[in-house]
Amino acid sequence: MQNESHERKRNSLGAPGSRVRWGLVIHGGVGVVPREAMSPELEVEYLQTLEASLQAGYEAMEGGGAATDAVVESIRVMEDSPIFNAGRGSNFTADGVVSMDASIMVGDTLEAGAVAGVEGVRHPILLARMVMERCQHVMLSGTGAEAFAREMGLEIMEPGYFFTQRRWDALQAARSREARGDTVPNTLDLEAGQVSGTVGAVALDPEGRLVAGTSTGGAANKKWGRVGDSPVVGAGTYAGSHCGVSCTGWGEYFLRHAVAHDVQARMAYLGLSLREAAHQVVMEKLEADRPGLGGIVAMDRDGFVEMCFNTQGMYRGWVDQEGRIRVAIY
Ligand code: ASP
Repeated sequence: MQNESHERKRNSLGAPGSRVRWGLVIHGGVGVVPREAMSPELEVEYLQTLEASLQAGYEAMEGGGAATDAVVESIRVMEDSPIFNAGRGSNFTADGVVSMDASIMVGDTLEAGAVAGVEGVRHPILLARMVMERCQHVMLSGTGAEAFAREMGLEIMEPGYFFTQRRWDALQAARSREARGDTVPNTLDLEAGQVSGTVGAVALDPEGRLVAGTSTGGAANKKWGRVGDSPVVGAGTYAGSHCGVSCTGWGEYFLRHAVAHDVQARMAYLGLSLREAAHQVVMEKLEADRPGLGGIVAMDRDGFVEMCFNTQGMYRGWVDQEGRIRVAIY
């Protein structure tokens, strides 16, 4: 019964180019469990967590909060869930630790905050917000960022909190692949969540403020302090005069193509709609640079919602000003 209702919701994501007066769009990464391997129970868990995330973001704005609150609250729900590659369910590095990245940006003011390579912080997105609002820098990394988190009184968790069997298994699989001399993740690895699974959100609030945020555990088996696109303003996250964008996918490609900013730039300089700009960047430019796999969620100033990906699926959903929630995976 529960599955039937989720089946209906999956099929009612809304027509392309859906529009809200105010609302929120989220993703839980393109590293989806392949359809044939997805159990009904796990599928329900994914869809319910996406719904809970959208509900938290919606309630933040309905209660008078700004788009920043909505982005942070919705991402916090996914960071607390063990099934997404962010916060608690993060991937492990080659050293077997969890090292997380996050960023947030406000469209009107271009204020931004980002953290890279932080350990132990329960909600990296909250830390990114603190960087944006409470310090003179835009991006902090490693032990310095962790010291700042403690100064801000953020919750710090023991390593055991971040242990999930699934991500541990993903690390072992990545290690064996590497031992075979195969260092390039393929599509299947991405789909199986070994590379991807980041979470993100873009909100437009009733006052017209547009904010984007992204949080991730990054790629499994990452080395040498590797940082992907997610905490990099302009690559994994961007909010500007025209739109807000949050990305997920193979970070190295998103960095090289400055994906999030490119969507905004095509709108600003070429006069494209959000849909046209998003599709050009993800379905043409990234697609042409295989394996530039991934996807984005985005929203523009007029409330048009965009979710596009060049992979088998992307955990995703959106909510409008009436609180109507739609979620989908494939
Ligand atoms: N883009 C992220 C990274 O490369 C991974 C993801 O989207 O899941 O760190």
